[in-house]
Amino acid sequence: MSMIKTPEQIALMREAGRVVANTLAAVREAAGVGVTLRDLDALAAETIATAGATPAFLDYHPRWAAVPFPGVICTSVNDAVVHGIPDGYKLQDGDLLSVDCGAFLEGWCGDAAVSFIVGTPDPVDQALIDATDAALARGIEAARIGNKMGDLAYAIGGAARRAGYGLLADHGGHGIGRTMHAEPPVPNDGRPGRGIKLTEGLVIAIEPMLILGRKDDYYQDDDGWTLRSANGRRAAHSEHTVAITADGPLILTFP
Ligand code: MG
Ligand code: MG
Repeated sequence: MSMIKTPEQIALMREAGRVVANTLAAVREAAGVGVTLRDLDALAAETIATAGATPAFLDYHPRWAAVPFPGVICTSVNDAVVHGIPDGYKLQDGDLLSVDCGAFLEGWCGDAAVSFIVGTPDPVDQALIDATDAALARGIEAARIGNKMGDLAYAIGGAARRAGYGLLADHGGHGIGRTMHAEPPVPNDGRPGRGIKLTEGLVIAIEPMLILGRKDDYYQDDDGWTLRSANGRRAAHSEHTVAITADGPLILTFP
């Protein structure tokens, strides 16, 4: 299937993106001290269903995974970088929570993630989140006709490296459309001028994953999904689905 979407298809993806953004906003609002990750997952399920959409992560079963993903959202706490399973864990004051949400509406997918502190923030954690959001903003800014994928990757990776953070190894963003994970890969680190040309109608999920300290290493938890930082330090993840248009980058995952 073509990686290029028509303006009409992008308009449909925008509606899927709205559902995802509204779900993330509801989850963030509810994520207080003592609330369980499972509570948040139930809220996400309800929000997505009420919008007439279906969750993209629930029962997602890529070849490398031992078991299908059991949640509607990914909830990654503290040293969990991405793919955390929403379980009975009760959020504690100061936890760094990353929430990732994907949903299909009318056959089109939206995918976005947000990181925030539950309760009282440690300034070190807040700076990590701010740097992750800034790296995402730099990536989005580079999602322009005439640029190459390496320019976008360098924009993300350069921002993260200059700020002194690690980048989750072997993981990045992706094309998105009728499926959640499509061509092309969208690396979080790269060299300017390399890679495919960014063209009008390309829709991609851009998603920096930053780790405290300069190390990129991770390990997979025994649950078969959660990726944790090898150094045990905290991590943050921010993501938007973005269309490359003649008018510049268009974020699709906002309310
Ligand atoms: Mg995502
Ligand atoms: Mg994604």
